[in-house]
Amino acid sequence: MIARRIPKALLGLFFPHRCMGCGALNPDRGDVLCQECMAQVAVWQGRGSGLFSFQTRYFDTILSPYLYCAPLKNVVLKFKYGESRRAGEFLGKLLADYAARQLLLGHYAYITFVPMDRLRQVSRGYNQAEVLARAVARQAGIIRPSALLRKAGRRPPQEKLGRRARLTNPLGSFEVSAPEGFSGKDVLLVDDVVTTASTVNECSRVLKEKGARRVDVLTLAASPVHGKES
Ligand SMILES: [Zn+2]
Repeated sequence: MIARRIPKALLGLFFPHRCMGCGALNPDRGDVLCQECMAQVAVWQGRGSGLFSFQTRYFDTILSPYLYCAPLKNVVLKFKYGESRRAGEFLGKLLADYAARQLLLGHYAYITFVPMDRLRQVSRGYNQAEVLARAVARQAGIIRPSALLRKAGRRPPQEKLGRRARLTNPLGSFEVSAPEGFSGKDVLLVDDVVTTASTVNECSRVLKEKGARRVDVLTLAASPVHGKES
């Protein structure tokens, strides 16, 4: 036991990990967040699809366990732009554990994810929504999530737009990659952060158009602006 722990301690000396929330050195068990930061991860209380205003809502339910604010936000940003592997594993486990508690995962014919623009994905090396969906799929006993959707044409990234533009930017920007459709099938759609929910709504519209009976949305976090602004 001791022999096993020594190399890790030595590694910590030479390659110290920092808590992605507060920057503390070598958080317990080499974790992404120290215990203090972990205790501060805010649960999103305002769940429910009624909080998002659309002329037509195409998804059936939306579940987001956490609020998109520090310290979780710091980890999500590292996942997108920095120490992606550790952060991705941590966030994937958080979401998969939540999904196992809240959803009957075996009920879904497909677990899928919001696709990313191909060029952006090539430059980043991965799609963060797909990484999260992979963790959820594994929890459901599926090797990998299904890539049911793809981007149609190029649009500016949602995070670079104001609220009004965010609502209309995703319209027409997704298409299904499975020509046979999903007649009568139930789909779980995974994304990282939901703000106006217009992206997941548009993805759901396309899936429903191809016959999906039900589309439930699962995102890691909800951005606090949505309750007031959309
Ligand atoms: Zn910390």
